[in-house]
Amino acid sequence: MTSSDNAQAGCVLAEDVRRYYLDTMGIQVWQSLENPVDDSETDVPASSDVIWQQLEQAVSSCTTCELHTSRTQTVFGVGNKSADLLIIGEAPGRDEDLQGEPFVGRAGQLLNAMLAAIGFQRDQVYIANILKCRPPNNRDPKPEEAAACHSWLQQQIELIQPEVILALGRIAAHQLLNTDQSLAALRGKQHKHAGIPLIVSYHPAYLLRKPIEKRKSWQDLKHVKFLLNSNGRST
Ligand code: URA
Repeated sequence: MTSSDNAQAGCVLAEDVRRYYLDTMGIQVWQSLENPVDDSETDVPASSDVIWQQLEQAVSSCTTCELHTSRTQTVFGVGNKSADLLIIGEAPGRDEDLQGEPFVGRAGQLLNAMLAAIGFQRDQVYIANILKCRPPNNRDPKPEEAAACHSWLQQQIELIQPEVILALGRIAAHQLLNTDQSLAALRGKQHKHAGIPLIVSYHPAYLLRKPIEKRKSWQDLKHVKFLLNSNGRST
């Protein structure tokens, strides 16, 4: 792909980011002898840290949808960038918007407890949301907002390459699985997003309102743990 092909396809990636993805996928970039490879210092592929910094910087200055006008700050994501488990919620709430970190309010405390129940500290997993910006009054994300934010999360998923994704709540499940099936229909099954096993469970904010459903949420968490263990990468 030439850089103009990339632009036409809507993938405006920095050259070093593009190279990093291709390297990760095992794809060699051939260069014609008429345009010899420049092996000067500037051609050294960017490290993963640099790629993450560039991505976070790009997210923090995103103005693609109207939510940028009301946010305090973007909420990029947090945790282990090589995590086996990626947790995806809906969107930042008030606390997250103020602190710049996902799941830091009451729902976040419950999420931490849920993670502890399957043997994870919060910093061992990666936590992100469908949206990087808070919708006013915590309303549901609009389809155009989710679409505008889509590529940020996809780039995070490609960089992390988790073993398992846990989608918390209806909004995350619908966006990641491109479906409008009920949560009840989506729970209890193994799905895939971008080839990665995905489990759907209740959003912790819902569990705070309906603690009786924690029993089912525990089944989902055990399913996640089982998948991680069967891949042999997590204890
Ligand atoms: N709810 C979410 O879906 N995400 C957060 O970060 C906080 C609350």
